[in-house]
Amino acid sequence: MNIIDFIHHFPNEESCEIFLKDYRQKAGIYCKTCKGFPKHYWFSGRKFFECSVCRRRTSLKAGTVMESSNLSLHTWFTAFLLMSATKKGFSCLEFQRQLGLKRYQTAFSLMHKIRAVMGKRDSLYLLKGMVEYDEAYVEKATRKRVQENLKRGKGSQKQAIVAVASESTPLEDPESGKKGSHCGFFKLKVLKDATSDSVEQFLENNVDSSSVLFTDKNTAYVDLEKMIEEHIKVKSSKDSANGTLNWVHTAISNLKKNLLGIYHMVSEKYLQNYLDEFAYKLNRRYFGEKLFDRLIIAAVYPYVQHYE
Ligand SMILES: [Zn+2]
Repeated sequence: MNIIDFIHHFPNEESCEIFLKDYRQKAGIYCKTCKGFPKHYWFSGRKFFECSVCRRRTSLKAGTVMESSNLSLHTWFTAFLLMSATKKGFSCLEFQRQLGLKRYQTAFSLMHKIRAVMGKRDSLYLLKGMVEYDEAYVEKATRKRVQENLKRGKGSQKQAIVAVASESTPLEDPESGKKGSHCGFFKLKVLKDATSDSVEQFLENNVDSSSVLFTDKNTAYVDLEKMIEEHIKVKSSKDSANGTLNWVHTAISNLKKNLLGIYHMVSEKYLQNYLDEFAYKLNRRYFGEKLFDRLIIAAVYPYVQHYE
């Protein structure tokens, strides 16, 4: 959906309510008492669903990312549109301005809630097939006083370590026989350090164990065979700039440009949320205008997790 379609479909609060009600009814409404999805009746005046079995009431926003928010559905829907409108993303100040929000903090929290939806959606998938892996070192915002006592250079305390993995199963054109590298899904996660324990933890949570993993010859990767079907080490990250680790290196370079261009420096606390937005858009890079439609469905999908 582009901006013209959005204005046409969601001109006001009522149109957003109707969309949300219809979508939730179609998907089935969860009753916390019955612990299931019994038939629910809709009460349009008070805007809640009532369970036909135990009569428990469920509000329109309950169980979605919008639960316990005072913002109107129209503001939320417009926020989904803005978050999916550009590949690069908005700065928080620009987002606040575009939505006409009074407080910066409201915009900040809204953006991070939407990023968490994106992260949660992507966490449903495991990478499989041929998978490239490397780490990125990202400059993080540190208080000036703390900064003066820190070391410089790669792996220093001024930098956060980000694990980056990408599916890259080569596809052969059946007619010409030409091989091209096809990149699929990406995963980006903040690591607490670059030890083999942290790398193994990342792989366990994000990569299917039947995969073939490609990495450079870093020592932290020594024991990965025990958790991945096959582990192939390629020479060095420099040699593979246009080869085996091409997709992760392209993603890392784009990530750095993106963080620098829009957010300047990101504090470690929120870095994962920025990574989630970056990866969500990267994974849906061919979706175009459909990104909004997907995001809105991910956001109103029954939601258990709570954000602070
Ligand atoms: Zn019930």
